[in-house]
Amino acid sequence: MRDHRYTAVALAVSAITPALADGQTTQQDTRWCTTGSPSSYVRAIERAIADGLVHDHALAPAIPATPRITFPASSTRGAPCLAPEQIYLYEDTNALLVSAYSSGELFAFMVQAANQLIAEWGDNYDFIGFWMDFTPTDQLGSAAFYLPVMNDVTGIGFPDSDLPDMMTFDNHDALGLAGDNVDGLVMMWNVNDALWTIPGATRAIMGHEFGHRWACFLPPTSDGIEFQGDNTECYAVSHWNSRVDAQASVLGISEWIGSDPAVLTPQFFNYINFNTEIPNPPTGGGLWSYPELYLMGYVSPAEMDSLTQEFRYMVDAVCDPATPHAGAIRALSSADIIAAAGPRAPTSTDPESQKHFRAAWIMVHQPGSPPSPNDLALATEFLEQNTTDWGPSTLSRGSINHALFYDPDCDGVPDPLGCNPADLAEPFGALDFSDVLAFLTAFGAADPLADLAPPTGVFDFSDVLAFLTGFGAGCP
Ligand SMILES: [Zn+2]
Repeated sequence: MRDHRYTAVALAVSAITPALADGQTTQQDTRWCTTGSPSSYVRAIERAIADGLVHDHALAPAIPATPRITFPASSTRGAPCLAPEQIYLYEDTNALLVSAYSSGELFAFMVQAANQLIAEWGDNYDFIGFWMDFTPTDQLGSAAFYLPVMNDVTGIGFPDSDLPDMMTFDNHDALGLAGDNVDGLVMMWNVNDALWTIPGATRAIMGHEFGHRWACFLPPTSDGIEFQGDNTECYAVSHWNSRVDAQASVLGISEWIGSDPAVLTPQFFNYINFNTEIPNPPTGGGLWSYPELYLMGYVSPAEMDSLTQEFRYMVDAVCDPATPHAGAIRALSSADIIAAAGPRAPTSTDPESQKHFRAAWIMVHQPGSPPSPNDLALATEFLEQNTTDWGPSTLSRGSINHALFYDPDCDGVPDPLGCNPADLAEPFGALDFSDVLAFLTAFGAADPLADLAPPTGVFDFSDVLAFLTGFGAGCP
């Protein structure tokens, strides 16, 4: 039985990804998300350099010693609203993306744009994402993808299929990316693509790409459970094998209902669906499944096992909604993931397990053609929705903040962090010894943070006086 929404989506996707046949309902490899191994992106850039298509990227720009705007810790809990100024504009000066380009040229372009953002706004972001306001020549067969830069979490598998013992990596230098904070880059292509007019499509696919930060790299168990697909009958590498049942997710973990036979629920979007047991009011379902929340560091193994109703493996199933599975079903638990990949470290309760994230977004445009207000409004709408989804989807344990700069009143103008020029350090809203220390440190280092009074660039008694005046005035 075919879900009419699924057919509509499949038709829409086929318009931009020729590899997907119209109305396809079997779980063959379609790879609309082309997220690959970390080293594959490095190699693509290296090939482009060797072919003379891009300059050697060894010269990443300097990062400002003091980012223009830092965020108080409390602001990482998700921005309430986003002004269009929160989207960083980047001109495709050489019109690369409307010409014939290689994957390496594209990845190098993304790194270059990210470097410019970091040079201007600091190395403050866990993710840097991309929209554009035009149709690029080639989307590499993808509706979206995640470009992994760095992973320091163990127990989530081996993301690099070419280096099967590599659990952690940091490809900042190899990619030519400035700083050391970014975990990965997210490509969402044209903000006006017809695909994004399908209700829920950006919500599902943004959740999918961010999920790749942690998920879909598990090795098989010793008794033959293939957690991930293999590009044959039950979906693709670096994605869930469709035989794995965990009540659906936007990362594409399946929802099989019943047993003997078990029936695969038709997908909302080409293998992906909202989760059926984590409440999220707009759709009734969260972005991720409990096994994914475990991999992401939001739930413990015991919570994962007790909270989810079913975590199962349809042994030898044909992964097709039209073909019920009457064969063997193997129960799965966190122990199977741990047996295959080792225990996750840091654990979900370890303070080192990051739960709140920050992302900055770039809108690429062609020369002389800046994005329209509508383009920027659409992008911020999608980002606000992702922030809204992130909370309930992580059991209110996590958040993502898509703000480029601190702007709690959402007027598009960066807001001061403290109550007056002397309120330089956390806790903001109070003047205390941490502000004195911050001023003295910055003053001693000729850091712009301490350049509180004219003349600009000169660190003299006028700056000290400005600090003392603000400090003496106190916070209201
Ligand atoms: Zn994917």
